Amino acid sequence: MTTDFRVGQGEDRHRLETGENLVIGGVTIESDRGTVGHSDGDVLVHAIIDALLGAVALGDIGQHFPDDDPEWEDVRSVDLLRRTLDTVETRGWAPSNLDTTVLLQSVTLAPYRSAILDTLGETFPRQTTINVKFTTGEGVGPVGRGEAIDARAICLISRLDR
Ligand code: MG
Repeated sequence: MTTDFRVGQGEDRHRLETGENLVIGGVTIESDRGTVGHSDGDVLVHAIIDALLGAVALGDIGQHFPDDDPEWEDVRSVDLLRRTLDTVETRGWAPSNLDTTVLLQSVTLAPYRSAILDTLGETFPRQTTINVKFTTGEGVGPVGRGEAIDARAICLISRLDR
């Protein structure tokens, strides 16, 4: 039985503007506003990558995939997540469970839950338990005013038996 565990947390925020795409957990969301910036602006996947990197103490997403590096310009965030999971496994660890929260005011995300879980489930090892939670900004702050989308993630990893 595994007794060697690590935990990592990650969070991300992206600005929202009209006419941009909104991608959450690799799933395109129908929305009149989307995330501004490099790549697909997938806050949930960015938070998950930081949680994984935190668990293996390998810095943050900006060090591994700099957003001013053209190599990562049009890469899907899910592909960056796949690379990060490879790194975690190479270091001898496996994600046990992943818990996440997306904070967004303007769009009800519940209808997208199963698609997001499917995408994450296809990316993570089969044995990882994955949960996604949705909440709003209660009408206050950058999330509540519809100016931003936030995501948080926490991931427990366990030592692979070899
Ligand atoms: Mg980000």
